[in-house]
Parts: sequence; C-alpha cells; structure tokens
Amino acid sequence: MKVLMLGPQGSGKSTQGKLLAEFLDVPYISTGETFRKMAGQDDEVGERVKGLLDQGQLVDDDLTAEVVKKRLNQKDCSAGFVMDGYPRTLQQVEVFDPGFEIVIYLDISDEEATNRLFKRKREDDTLELIQERLTIYHRETEPLLKYYDE
Ligand code: ADP
Repeated sequence: MKVLMLGPQGSGKSTQGKLLAEFLDVPYISTGETFRKMAGQDDEVGERVKGLLDQGQLVDDDLTAEVVKKRLNQKDCSAGFVMDGYPRTLQQVEVFDPGFEIVIYLDISDEEATNRLFKRKREDDTLELIQERLTIYHRETEPLLKYYDE
C-alpha cells in the first residue's frame, strides 16, 4: 500500500504516518527528516540544504526527486510505504509521481498549526519561519488536494 500524508505543518502527518506505517508494516518516509539529516553533512550539498531549511524555503526539485527515488528503490519499499513530505508542489508530482493508492488529508487552521509548531521547538520553528512555511504550503502544496481529488 502506497500512502501519502498530506496537510499543513503541525497537522500530525508524522505522528499519524508513523502509526499507520507500523500498522501496515511498511516504512515511514519523511523527506523533511531526510533533509534535516543532510543539512548536518559537512559537504556542499549539506550546506545548500541547510541554507534552504534555515530560511524555510523548499529544497530544489532535482535534488528532492533524486532523494525520493533513491529511497523508494530500496527493497523495504517493495510492499509500499507511508510518505510524509513528497510531493510538495504540482511541479514535483509532474517530475516524479510515486503512484499513491491512498491520500490522507489532515487539516488544521494556521492558528492551531502555529501554536503546535511553537511547542515543538525544532530549529526552523521560529514564528517567522513557521509563517513562511505555511505561506508556501497554501501556495504550493494545497493545489495538490485538487490534483489528488481528481
Ligand atoms: P514542515 O512540514 O514543518 O515544513 P518537514 O519536516 O516536512 O517540515 O520539512 C522540513 C523542510 O524540508 C521543509 O521546510 C523543506 O525545506 C524541506 N522539504 C521537505 N520535503 C520537501 C519537498 N518535497 N520538496 C522540497 N523541500 C522539502
């Protein structure tokens, strides 16, 4: 089963996605977690990713597609996976579509998202960066709801 978790920051995609992955006995994949790990690497790619994460900006599509394809090609994904964080834009799904069978949409208000993220205390969870990421979510990611609805 190939499942996509969709929804704004703080809606619970990772919490619910991990539980669902455990239940289905498939891997939970988070592009955000992958990029945070990459941002800690002491090389050119690590520096580039860190710079983008620190500004609340999306990582470029080429690198994102490469990272996702590589992960999905691994053996443990053969029976499916629960994806959190990809695709994030219509352009991304046009470049590479993992072929989801189920899309789960979790929704909360921006106000509730901001409250929750503030408590999380992740490095990119400052008020400014939360607002930036929510703006990008509404502009770039929300159109995917219509795409998958159709
Ligand atoms: P959040 O949902 O709070 O933004 P994530 O852990 O999903 O947190 O993502 C953290 C960061 O990783 C994003 O702000 C973005 O920079 C990067 N990222 C994650 N997924 C993608 C993606 N599909 N395309 C581009 N950048 C991504």
